[in-house]
Amino acid sequence: MTLDLTGDVVALTRTLCDIPSVSGDEKAIADAVESALRALDHLEVLRDGDAVVARTSLGRPSRVVLAGHLDTVPIKDNLPIKINDDILYGRGTVDMKGGVAVMLQIAATLPEPRHDLTFVFYDHEEVASRLSGLGRLVREHPDWLAGDFAILGEPSNASVEGGCQGTMRIQITVPGVAAHSARSWRGVNAIHGAGAVLDLLRAYEPRQPIVDGLQYREGLNAVKVEGGIAGNVIPDECRVWVNYRFAPDRSGEEAEAHLRELFAGFEIEVQDLAPGARPGLDQPAAREFVEAVGGVVEAKLGWTDVARFAQLGIPAVNYGPGDPLLAHTDNEFCPAQDIRDSLAKLLKWLG
Ligand SMILES: [Zn+2]
Repeated sequence: MTLDLTGDVVALTRTLCDIPSVSGDEKAIADAVESALRALDHLEVLRDGDAVVARTSLGRPSRVVLAGHLDTVPIKDNLPIKINDDILYGRGTVDMKGGVAVMLQIAATLPEPRHDLTFVFYDHEEVASRLSGLGRLVREHPDWLAGDFAILGEPSNASVEGGCQGTMRIQITVPGVAAHSARSWRGVNAIHGAGAVLDLLRAYEPRQPIVDGLQYREGLNAVKVEGGIAGNVIPDECRVWVNYRFAPDRSGEEAEAHLRELFAGFEIEVQDLAPGARPGLDQPAAREFVEAVGGVVEAKLGWTDVARFAQLGIPAVNYGPGDPLLAHTDNEFCPAQDIRDSLAKLLKWLG
C-alpha cells in the first residue's frame, strides 16, 4: 500500500478510509503512513507500536504539534467508502481520516513551515482510555510530543474548539440502620438520608467561567442511585454517584476539594478523575492560528485527547473537517470541500 501524499487530499482521504483500521487493527495503516513519511527527507520519523511520529528540525522558535488517530470504530457495511456529489460517505470519513489526510499532506508539501512541526498519528483512540496510543506516547516518549501548541484534527466542523472540560465521578455513601419496616422507628432510613445529597445537587448553581477567553459550562449531576434490599426492610445504605464536569481553570485536585467541601460530612470515594485542558489561546502560536483560520472559537465541553497534551503542559485545540455529531454513526459522511478548506487554511497559516 503506497500513499500519495502530494496529490488530491480527497483521494488521499478515500485511500485512508479504505484501509481497514478498526481499533486494534492499525498495523496496515500505520505501516503505510510510516513508509510514506520515511520517503520525505525533511522529516525525522519515529515509531512506537502502531503510532508514528514525524518532525521537522528547522530550529524555528516554536513548535506546533498536529495529531490525529488512525483507528475507527467498527465497520457497519460502510466500507469501502462512496463519493457522490463531492460528499464522502462511509466509516472514517468524519472520524477522522479527513483530518489525518490533511496532516499527511502538510507533512509532505511543506518542507519549510514557519513553525517547526511534529506530526503524531496514533492507535487505539476509539477504545478504553488506558489503551490509547497517545496516552502511551505521553508515558513512554513525552519528548516526541514536545511543543508549544497542539492541534488535534478531530472533526469540529472546521471551527476551533479550545481546551476541554475535566470529568470526575464520585460515589457518595449515605449510612442508615436496618430494621423491619413494621418497626421502622428502630432503624434509620439511608434512602431518606440521601435526600440531603439530592437537595445539594438541586440547589447547586454550576459555574460558567471564562478561561483564556472561552466560556465553559460546568455540570454537577447525580447519574445513578442504589439502595435498599427488600420491600420490608429499612435500608441501611444508599449510594449516589455524581458526575462533575468542570472547567479547565480547576485542576483535578481543586475539583475534588470542591466536591469534598460541598458534600462535607458524607463519605466520598473518587472513582474516576480526568482533568481538563486550558485552550491556551493566549499563546502566540495559538492566537496566530485562530486569526489565520477564522470562524467562531468555542469551548470544548466533552473530554478529549487535548487533555493528554495538557498533561505535558502543551495547550491544545480541536480543529478538523467533518461534523462531530456524525462521528460513529452508520451514515457518517463528510463534504469533500470541508477537507480541502481545512487543508488550505492550515497551509496558509504554516506556509
Ligand atoms: Zn475521533
